[in-house]
Order: sequence, then C-alpha cells, then structure tokens
Amino acid sequence: MSKVIPCGFQSLLERQFQNEYTHAKFQEIQMEFRGKMNCVVDKVFVEGHACRYDVVEEAIHNGKPYHKIYIVGFNRANMNINCSCLLFEFWGIVCRHLLLLFAQEKVTKAPNKYILSRWSKYMCRKHAYIRASYGSKVKEPHIERYDGLCKRFYEIAEYACESENTTELLHQHLNAYDCTKTCKETSSRKN
Ligand SMILES: [Zn+2]
Repeated sequence: MSKVIPCGFQSLLERQFQNEYTHAKFQEIQMEFRGKMNCVVDKVFVEGHACRYDVVEEAIHNGKPYHKIYIVGFNRANMNINCSCLLFEFWGIVCRHLLLLFAQEKVTKAPNKYILSRWSKYMCRKHAYIRASYGSKVKEPHIERYDGLCKRFYEIAEYACESENTTELLHQHLNAYDCTKTCKETSSRKN
C-alpha cells in the first residue's frame, strides 16, 4: 500500500488503474498498455452509437512477424465495449485493443464496470474475511454477518442491474453508507 508503481505513459487511463488496482494487477494492465503500441486501427465502422474497430496487432512467432485482426465493439451511448480476444471476459483485464479504442474515442476515464472491485487494492479487508472462513466449520460472528451481507448485496445487485435507473438509484443509496471511504482515506494518508 505504501509503495506506488510509476506510470509508464502520459495517460489518465493508466493513472486510473494505478489508483485503483493492486500492484500485481496494475503491472498486468501496464503490459497491455505496452502491447497497445503494436496495434493499429485498420478499419472503423460507425452506425448510430455503435462503432466497430478492426484492430491489427503485430507480433513475432518463431522469429517471424505475423498480424492478427481483432474486432472491437464500442457503444458510445452506454460505453459498453467488447473485444474478440475476450481477455476481459476471461481474466477481467482490459486488453490492449480496448485501450487502443479508448485512445481513438478520446475516452480518458474507463467506465466503472471495467474497473473490477476484485482487483482493487482497497479490498484487502474483504479478502481477509474470505480467507478466514476457509477450513472453519464454526463461523465467527463477524464472518457470519459478512456472509449474510454479501448474499443480500448479490441479490440486490442482480435485480438492480436490470435497468440503468435502478442501478443509479442503488449507487445513490450505497454512497450514503459508503464505509470503504474510510479504508481509502487511511490508504491515501499512508501513501
Ligand atoms: Zn482484445
């Protein structure tokens, strides 16, 4: 928490990940930022809010260069993104092709849905709770309370995410009870 891995690029996006993610995850994201330099936009298709970018990535295999095309989709209205490499779907990491699209579309802040809380450096307390519950048949009272809250949060999130209005409403309610601010403030004081 007290150490900060420096950013490699003059990029607000990279700084956003630096501020949010653990060191290990931020280093993985930095690999994607570096990999972005091997990618170029080949074609762009736009229809209404929907865009499709064909991104060509140059790589070297067995000493020989080769090119691979990735299809990247972006909706300018709801900021949904997807890439045919599926790195985000499988590993929760925003890939180099999406980072290139963000740069082309002048997106300087990744939407919250692509900043996963599971990689957040502010989640240390929650992980401690999860680990503490392994191998223990009798739950300690605070872990039991934690599990009960998680179960309710998941149920409510599943319902709320069905619409943008209910999602926004839930965010507003949660902001009023945001205990994680204390954790973040403590961490930033250490930094
Ligand atoms: Zn990709």
